[in-house]
Amino acid sequence: MQAKGASDRVAGFKWSFNVAQSNEVNAWCMPGGKVVFYTGILPVCQDEDGIAVVMGHEVAHAIARHGNERMSQGLLVQGGGMALDLATAMTNQPEQTRSLFQQAYGIGATVGAILPFSRLHESEADEMGLIFTAMAGYDPSKAVPFWERMSSLGGQRPPEFLSTHPDPEKRSAKLNELIPLARAYAKKYGTN
Ligand SMILES: [Zn+2]
Repeated sequence: MQAKGASDRVAGFKWSFNVAQSNEVNAWCMPGGKVVFYTGILPVCQDEDGIAVVMGHEVAHAIARHGNERMSQGLLVQGGGMALDLATAMTNQPEQTRSLFQQAYGIGATVGAILPFSRLHESEADEMGLIFTAMAGYDPSKAVPFWERMSSLGGQRPPEFLSTHPDPEKRSAKLNELIPLARAYAKKYGTN
């Protein structure tokens, strides 16, 4: 499925959100906007807000083109500024943004490669993802307990949620710090 607005705003994207039957606690994205959730991650998500946290994180990986080797050094260095620009770029399409999140449910299974990301990419995906989650009308504060639940799974975590992710305590602190910013974006540009 495709959200026309989002792909119009961010060239080259064809969004598709897929659910795959698997006990693996995982979700991932590919360049171009294909996002896959394994059913094994849903109990860790616990509720719709938790799903939105993962969704925001994966969408952020795709939008930041973390799977794309053409990503320039300069773009990496900009960090937070980039997240804000991208969030702004999404703001003319709040309905589509929300529908992207909603499309996570009930779409047929597709299996593909798992992309490993650097720790910096993970931090960027956290930051941008938090903003997207809030803009789509979900509670960004739920990101903190979600990632804590994820880290408490220990060695069961597959690549996307294992070694490359930020230190759990630092991650919680950073997310907490960013919640007001995410809420500000949601208030200004969000769907509710
Ligand atoms: Zn990630």
